[in-house]
Order: sequence, then structure tokens, then C-alpha cells
Amino acid sequence: MPTVMKFGGTSVADAHAFENVARIVASQQRAAPVVVVSAMSGVTDALLAATVAAGEGRAEAAIASLEATFARHHQTAAKLLTPAAAQAFSKQVDNAAHQINELLRSSADNPLRRRPTQDAVLAYGEMLSSELLAEVINERGTKAQHVDARRCILTDDEYTCALPLMPDTLFKARDVLAPILENAFVPVMGGFIASTAEGTTTTLGRGGSDYTAALIGAALTADEIQIWTDVTGVLTADPRVVPEAQTIERLSYAEASELAYFGAKVLHPKTIQPAIEGSIPLRICNSRAPEEIGTLVGPQTETTDRTIKAIAHKSGVTTVQITSARMLGAYGFLRALFEVFERHKTVVDVVATSEVSVSLSLDDASALPVIVTELEQLGIVGVEKGCAIVCVVGEGLRGTPGIAARVFSAISDINVTLISQGASSINFTFAIEEERVEEAVRRLHAEFFGKRG
Ligand code: ASP
Ligand code: MG
Repeated sequence: MPTVMKFGGTSVADAHAFENVARIVASQQRAAPVVVVSAMSGVTDALLAATVAAGEGRAEAAIASLEATFARHHQTAAKLLTPAAAQAFSKQVDNAAHQINELLRSSADNPLRRRPTQDAVLAYGEMLSSELLAEVINERGTKAQHVDARRCILTDDEYTCALPLMPDTLFKARDVLAPILENAFVPVMGGFIASTAEGTTTTLGRGGSDYTAALIGAALTADEIQIWTDVTGVLTADPRVVPEAQTIERLSYAEASELAYFGAKVLHPKTIQPAIEGSIPLRICNSRAPEEIGTLVGPQTETTDRTIKAIAHKSGVTTVQITSARMLGAYGFLRALFEVFERHKTVVDVVATSEVSVSLSLDDASALPVIVTELEQLGIVGVEKGCAIVCVVGEGLRGTPGIAARVFSAISDINVTLISQGASSINFTFAIEEERVEEAVRRLHAEFFGKRG
């Protein structure tokens, strides 16, 4: 029965935005909302920068850098709440500031505690935004109750990117939230933050509030998990590159997963798995235009006349080619190759292989020099920086001939370096030089969606 509503940082950027969220929640009261909220926009970045500065021995500068962040919380509350409630919230902000300053000072002399400290500091962003939002929703006439998300989401101790413990999380979340819903209160909690079984604060990784929403949705077998952001749903392409990009009405889970990995920033990639397991539809909504229905992501796998549903792209990618005759007719080669990436904790995005070569793309090339040295023991290594990945997605790709021909004739004068068709055969992915990626995406959009107007 409940509906999980997750609001991102831009949806609580200022007093006006908080008002708007309270209005949206009130309008959906009958759907039994459970609210998950990010830190106010920019707050996580500010807290993170402070922990980095403190870790480098500049604790006092780090503390000073956060003054504006705390002032912003005080001012926002003063605009939104009755004087008594604003004062109570301001006490919480002061308390948070005090705790954060202690953490920043102590982190300088203990590098081993760097990641736990970072999580402890970052968690205040979501704790404050969720406390404030609960109070605003209450004052606007909808009964709301703040919930400490760390009581609901339990994780391992991989600080800064902790993994939820299942089924404990599902059980705990239900245990904490069900009584609140039964009393017809709206639970309001911070996304992103969690705790270990021992009660130490962890976080789910940047952008992790979506994931919190999905976990809560799965725990409560929600009717729908809504991700409220500042664009209308998932678009056919990045609107900064293709101004005529349109909202996609429906996507399958598989299509949404591909898009989440390749640049469509609206949905955190991990969000989809809990939704799939519970067959819970996900909806991407626009808090600036709540009447628009946005994009619905669900189990349906429909194809459209256009075949292609979206074109995603990602710049700043490095591609690596390994060529070796030893690959021919030998086993164990790919394992040895991927072990190199595993040893250096480097994620490989796209892979294509031939009889004697493997090409792959990396998002994070920080460990590349050592990786290349180790790969050279396996074969001849080539590295190309400044690449971009383009990913064309649609359930209709499965079994529609001629898509590749249309893609490549639309960009026939652009050199393509790596091509891969996903095993799910709903995506077609390739690498090109970064400088021409916007042009390529615009041409592909025109080819598959036409020019509007
Ligand atoms: N506040 C966190 C971040 O900025 C989590 C989130 O917003 O999803 O990464
Ligand atoms: Mg986000």
C-alpha cells in the first residue's frame, strides 16, 4: 500500500523548495507516503570537501568552510517554521556543527579512521534535511514523524560505499516503519545514511538516497517508488546536448539499468535491483512540475515503433586494448586479464573481444599506470584517453535488424573504436572520440526521433 517518495537535494535546496515538497506529500496523503530525502543541494559536497581538508591537516580551515552551510540551515528553518520550532531545529544544527567540528579535528591525527569519519560527517547532511522536512510537513498540516534512517538500513562496514545487509534491512525497516504508517503518520527519513549492526554510521555511496528509497520500497512492498527530481522523468537524450529531447513514458527495468549506468543521472544504478526483486514500479517525477506523470519503470518490456527509447552518453572515458596471440585457443587468459583490474579495484564498463584482442572501457583511470604495466605481461597494450561511450537502448533492439546500420550511417564520418552489444540485446554501445560525442548524439537523436516541430 505505501508509496515511497524520494526527494533529491535540488528538491530541498531552499525554503521555497521545502514548501513545495510538503505540498506534494500532502497531495498524496491517501497513498500512504514514506518520504526519503537527500541533504540540501551542495551540502554533501561541502561536508566532503571539509573532511578532505581536515584529513590533510587543515582542520580549522575545514571548520570555517562549513559556516555558510550551517547558516543556510538556520536561515531556511527560520523562513519555514514557527519561531519555537525554528529555534529547536537551530539547536540541532548547532549540535551537528559541534559534533562535526570534533570529528574534523580528530580525523587529522588518525588516517585509519578517515573513511568512518567521512561517513559520520556526511550523515549530518541527510539528518538535518530530514529533520527539517518532517517538521515542515507537520506544520503544513500533514502528520509526519522523523525516522533515523540508520535504524532501518543496516550495512557491512565498507565505509563510504557500504552494502546493505539483507534480509536484516528488510526486516528492520518494516519493523520501524509499519507502526508509524498504521498510526497514519508520514515517516520522513534521510536517504544515503545507514549503520553497521554495531551501530556505527555508514553511507551507501554518492547518490545513494535513491537506493535507500528502493530498499524501503522493497521492505514495505510499496505500490510505487517515486524518485522526485528537477527534470521530468528520463529523457530520450541529455537535454543539454539535445534540446528537443523528450520524456520517455515507460521503460523496462533492463532499459532503465542500462541508462542509469551510461550517464542518465536521474536514477542511481543500484536502485533498480530491489525494485525488480519486489516487482515494484519506479516512477521518476519532477518536483517542479508535479502534475506531469514522468517516466514509469516497470517489469513490462514493450517495444515502440521507434525501436530505440534513448541515447545515453558518457565522456571522460579511457579505452584499453590488449592484443595477444596467447589468447588464441588458450583458457585462463581472460581471468588473468580481469584479475589485473580487480587487484586495482578498477571498474570495467564495456568489453569487446575478438580471437586475439580485448578492448574495454574504464571510467576511473587513476590506477591506469600500474594496470598497464601488469597488462603488458599478457600482451601488447594500447591506451586511448579522451573517449566517450554512446549507448543506444531499447527493448526493440532485440530482433530488429538494421539498427547498427542506421547508427553507423548516421555517424559514418566519426571513428568508432569499441563496439559491444549487451548480452541482454537491448543496448548497443560503442566508443568514439570525446570531442565529437555531442555531435554524434545529436545526429543519432535526429535519426531515431526526428526533429521536433
Ligand atoms: N546526499 C548524497 C549525495 O549527494 C546522497 C544523495 O543525494 O543521494 O551524494
Ligand atoms: Mg541523485
